[in-house]
This record gives sequence, structure tokens and C-alpha cells, in this order.
Amino acid sequence: MAERSASGGRAASQRRRRGGARSRKRAPALSLYNTLTGSKETFSPLEPGRVKMYTCGPTVYRYAHIGNLRTYLVADWLRRLLEASGYQVRHVKNITDVGHMRQEMLERGEDKVIAAARAEGKTPAQIAHFYTSAFLEDEGKLNILRARVFPRASETVSDMVELTRTLVEKKFAYVAGGNVYFAVDSFPQYGKLSGQVAAGLEEGVRVQADPLKRDQRDFALWKAAEPGRELVWPSPWGEGFPGWHIECSAMAAKHLGPRIDIHTGGVDNIFPHHEDEIAQSEAAFGHRHVNHWVHAQHLLVDGLKMSKSSGNTYTLADLESKGFEPLAFRYLSATVHYRSRMNFTFASLRAAQRALKRLRLKLREPDGRVTKTAQAECERWRRRFWRAAANDLNMPASLAVVWEVARSRLPAPIKRELLMDFDRLLVLDLVQPDRPPEPPVEIQEMVSERARLRRARDYPPADEIRGRLIAQDFEVRDMRSGTVIVPVPEWARGQEAISASGDVESLLAGPPELDFTVGVVARQGCAELERCLSSVQRWLGHRRAEVIVVDNGFEDECGRQLDEVAVADPQVRVFHADHFLGSAAGRNVCLRQARGRYVLLIDTSVEVTGDIFSRLEPLLDDPTVGVAGRWGVVTHDIRNFDEAKAAGDVDAVEGYLMAFRRDILQEIGLLDEKFRFYRHLDLDFSFALRSRGYRAVVDTELPLVRHRHVDWEETPPEERERLSKRNFYRFLHKWGDRRDLILSQRA
Ligand code: AMP
Ligand code: ZN
Repeated sequence: MAERSASGGRAASQRRRRGGARSRKRAPALSLYNTLTGSKETFSPLEPGRVKMYTCGPTVYRYAHIGNLRTYLVADWLRRLLEASGYQVRHVKNITDVGHMRQEMLERGEDKVIAAARAEGKTPAQIAHFYTSAFLEDEGKLNILRARVFPRASETVSDMVELTRTLVEKKFAYVAGGNVYFAVDSFPQYGKLSGQVAAGLEEGVRVQADPLKRDQRDFALWKAAEPGRELVWPSPWGEGFPGWHIECSAMAAKHLGPRIDIHTGGVDNIFPHHEDEIAQSEAAFGHRHVNHWVHAQHLLVDGLKMSKSSGNTYTLADLESKGFEPLAFRYLSATVHYRSRMNFTFASLRAAQRALKRLRLKLREPDGRVTKTAQAECERWRRRFWRAAANDLNMPASLAVVWEVARSRLPAPIKRELLMDFDRLLVLDLVQPDRPPEPPVEIQEMVSERARLRRARDYPPADEIRGRLIAQDFEVRDMRSGTVIVPVPEWARGQEAISASGDVESLLAGPPELDFTVGVVARQGCAELERCLSSVQRWLGHRRAEVIVVDNGFEDECGRQLDEVAVADPQVRVFHADHFLGSAAGRNVCLRQARGRYVLLIDTSVEVTGDIFSRLEPLLDDPTVGVAGRWGVVTHDIRNFDEAKAAGDVDAVEGYLMAFRRDILQEIGLLDEKFRFYRHLDLDFSFALRSRGYRAVVDTELPLVRHRHVDWEETPPEERERLSKRNFYRFLHKWGDRRDLILSQRA
């Protein structure tokens, strides 16, 4: 970490290497999960200061898809982290231009590169060359450092033959009908990486028995060429071609030696590819092959495995053609830990793109004064960032530090220094050379007019201008340092803001797909919203649930920050309203979109401190209960309401928490949108239910804490008075003569 250059690329990494020995002392120890041992280990290289790293590279018969690219990004972050910690990394990434055959293809002697060449009417070499260039271009766009060596399988065949010969000599392999097979039973440790010893079982693939094999678990190191096959090589066993796994054993040994520090790949490589690689290399060399196995979990698209037949296989070019920057994908990949599945959606990519742009804007904030304390704080943040990354490459945790810094009150020069330091690992090109072009004059005039109106507290016309700017595809951000106006790029247009609850589709007619929907609606109080939301996320855990957050016209950056929450947590969905829709309408967005059997509306003043969900479930399963909550009120005249002291039936449940069965909405309808202010809206909802014979109940044991209520405290007293009164009369008009519903009257 001696260097603080933000530039990625070769030069920077070379400079870093030279500064290595000095900075190694300060770098936190790298703790890294090892697939082989199934535990996190403190990384220590075979040779001090140097790391030998091998990455299973692409098979070049098609474009790399974003799943492959995620795996290469993981390797890139690992390498950059090692380099930033002062190690010299020798990184080798193979190019499979021949021989990548899954077992079942091998049986048919089919090679993907050859098959693609046939299909495209080209030679295998042409195909391989074309897709290799495309791959290197994709990696470049994603700021993935070039490997030191990109060995081609086709150039390493003689080494594979040599290795195979050694295995035959040492009796780990046998020849049958021009093929050479590895005898699995000759290597007792077979299965130590994956815990698996036989192919096919996990995929449900029925492999046709190969009569030449002594044991069906054996795998081919060499295959005899079928007549007329292009791409054949001579060998002691006749003309043929190598198996897939032997390629990595041979290339790793050739370029890194027989012992290597780190080997990376995707989880699908664990078996049989890496299991077989271990067997071949360790049998041939007589010692441990790889110290540390690092496997990246798969990327899914819209929750599904990518496949040609599902039509959900995307390349980087596909993302670019939709107007995304490749680095938005790099950002998105950093939001998910490499050992977790990454569910790719365009909504999350859009949020990542937005987050990235916002981060870059942060680097343009005007300078402030740098104090001694700020300097000290700077070092603390720096340590936090690198420590997070060093904890099993926890990029999401590092990214969280990035955002804390970006949002902090640190002086701008310190923020810049930190973000540039962090970008040595992230490499999101946070420092952009050019400012975006100035918006046209008429737009600038609208912005100043709006600023004038806002200063005069004349909000309706100011909002109207904001609406016109948005309609012209400009985004208006009111920040502490002033208003920033940015053109909304193509990919973000027309997607986001809603202007009425009816703008979102109602899913209520469909069956519930989840157990819980938690709805949180806010228009101000970012800290409160964050506290509430994170407490919900914490206690929701891994339930089948969703959280719907409605940004009900936040005036500041908070609305945007929510997108990052949604990126980081697939359970969270965010809707942005382009203005304040009203309290009831905002909540109706949640209700219309709810897919959970139980719906909870939680106010941002509330913090969840325990498992409310398990307590609510049986309560809501009681068919006599219409609405449940933690706080309720009782009345004797429908005019004055007192907070209920005890658990049990109440006249109405208060809006801090209102929980109900989703299907009840079909019966009583949504919230009454005439209630634009929140007061009495909750009472109206309870009364609507109670008039249908349902009970309103509170459970005073629900683990919830109430904090200050921003909507109340931030509304000026006169306005608050006026709005409350209006809602009160609306309520009274509807329910004032329904004394029959009051508990005290009934008793
Ligand atoms: P291939 O080109 O199929 O050999 O794959 C290249 C690399 O991408 C390997 O390390 C695979 O494990 C990895 N990979 C394949 N599919 C996915 C996926 N859906 N998500 C993440 N990585 C993948
Ligand atoms: Zn490999």
C-alpha cells in the first residue's frame, strides 16, 4: 500500500511491485478460503514475497459470458490484493483452444473448438484466434490485469504427452486401444478436493460405459483420433489429441513449476476438472500440487442457470449494447462475495451503474480544509478497507467502506485520497479525466429558477420544474454542496420514477409466492430509514421474503442510496416516486406489489430488535384477526384515542407496525389514498377491517423499539396542525357514527 496511484493497468502494478518489500509489513494478513481444506486459512506463499497463481482460462469457441467474466474478476481482485500487499504475482491463465471436452463429449470424440469451426465454416485455428482476441478485449474493458502468460493448449501438447508418458511409466495410467486412461484406483487420495469420485451422478448425466476403461471412474489423458479428424498430434500411442484436464496439469507445471500457490476457477471446475488435475499432477510429481484452491460461485441470470435454451446467456457486448459501461458489471460483481451465487438482473446492473456514477461524482466535490484529525481518520478508513478485502476477499465489505467514506463528512481531499487508494483494488476508474459536458443553457436556467423558488420556500412550482427536467431526461440531485444536474443516460430512462401507486402493477390477484412482504415507505430521514431497513434485513434472515422500499419523493441523495441496498440484497426492491405521492399511496405501492402471504408495513421510526416474524405468524393465522401490531389505541368516542396499555384487542392498530394477511386486501381494498398525511390513516385501515368483523390486536411482547418520528418532527407545527385536522375530519366523516365498533361500548 505504499503506492497511492489510482491508475490500474500494467505500469501501476509494476511500480507497486518495486515498492513491495516496504509495504508488505503494513498489509493485513490475507485470510482465504481453501476448497481443499474447507476452511479459511492465512495465506502464506511457498517462496517469500512471490505468488504463483494459475487460473483456468476460457475455452475459445464462443464469446465469454458474464458468468465466466465474474470468475475472472474474482481472480483479478485476488491478484490485485496480493500485489497491493507487496507480493510479486506470477499469473498464468490458459487458453483452451483444443481438447476442452466434458466427459460425455469425450466419449463422442467431440471437441468444442472443432465443432464451432465446422458450424461457422472456418478452421479451428481461425475460430480460436477470433475468440481469444474477443476474450482479451473483454478482460481489458473490465480492467482485468493481463496474465503474465496465456499458454495455449495447442502449443503445449508435447508437454501433455510427456506428462502422460510419465503417468504410464509410473503405473498411474494405462493404454487401451490407442487411448490412455488415468487409473483412479491407483491414486488413493482421489476425491480429496471435491469429495466426489464418480462422474455423472451430480448432473444426472448417463454416461455410456466405455469398454476400454478398466474402471468407469477412470478418465482419458489421451484419445486416439478418429479417421478424418483435423487437429491431431503424434504420440507414443499413435495420432490423437489430449484430454481436457491434462492440459492444466501440464501448463501449470510448465509455466509455474510443479508446486503452485493458488489455483482459481469456477465451482463447476471442482469436479472432475480440478480433482483430475490434482490426481495427474500429484501422481506424476509425487508431492502436493496446489496449496490453495479458490473457487468462485456461479452467476445466475434472473435466478436461473445461464443456458442457450433459456436464452439468458449474456456477453459483455450484450450489456454494452444496452448502454451499460463494462465497469458497471465490475462494480456489480464486487457487491457479491465470491463464494456466494451472484444473481444477475438488469435492474441490479442499472443500480450498479448508477452507484458507480455517483461514486465518481463524489470525487468532484469542492475542496475542504484538511485537519490533523481528518488525517488520522483517513488512516483508520484505509485500514478498514484493506482489512475487509483481506478477509477472504470480502469485496462487498470493502465496498461498504467505500460508501461510508463517500458519504462521510471527511474533507474532499481526504475522500479523494482514500477513494483513489481503494480504486487500486476496485479499479472502477473512479477518477474520470473529463467533466461531463455542461447541460444546455435553457436547462441551466431552469435549474437556477428552481433554486430561487426553493430558497423562497415556494415548493410547488420548484417541483414542477424538477418534473420538467426529469421529463427531459435530466436527473436533479440536491446535495449539500449545491444542486447537480446530470443527463440521465439511455439505460436509465423511463424505468424508474413512478408518479402514482397505479403505475406499479398489482400482483394481488396472483397467489402468494413468499411468506413475508415488509413494506417501508419514507420521504425524509435517511438515517432513520437505514436503521429501520437494516434491522428488518437482519431479522428477516433467510426467510422466503421480500422488502419493498418506496422512496416517496426523497429530496436528497437518499433515494439513490437505496439502490445500493437493493443491489447488495436481492430480497430488497426499491421504487422511486418522482414526487411525494401521499402517505397512503406510497404504502399502496408496497401493497400492490406484495407477494408475501403476510404483509407488514413498518414505519421508519421503528427498529426491529428481535424475531417479530415468528411471533406474528401464528397471530395472523387466526382467521378472526384482521390486523396485528405492537402499538394500538382505544377510544370511547371515536374522537379521542388513547394508547392501549395491555396486549390483546384494541380499537385500532397504530401505523408503526401493521401486519395482516395479504388476501384480506382483496376483501377490504387498499389504503384510502385521500389520506395524504399519515395521521389517522392507520386508524382508517383498522376501522375498515373492523367494520368487516375482523379484530385488531396488539402483541406488546413484539421486539420493536420506537425512535423519533421524522415525519412528525420535520413538519412545521402549523402545517402539521392543518394536515392532522384534515385527516381527522376525513376519518370522522367515515367512521364517526360507528360506535358499534368500539370495544368499550360493546363490553
Ligand atoms: P469455460 O470457458 O466454460 O471453460 O469456463 C471458463 C471459466 O468460467 C471456468 O473457470 C468456469 O468455472 C467459469 N464459469 C462457467 N460458467 C460460469 C457461471 N455461470 N458463473 C461463473 N463462472 C462460470
Ligand atoms: Zn483448468
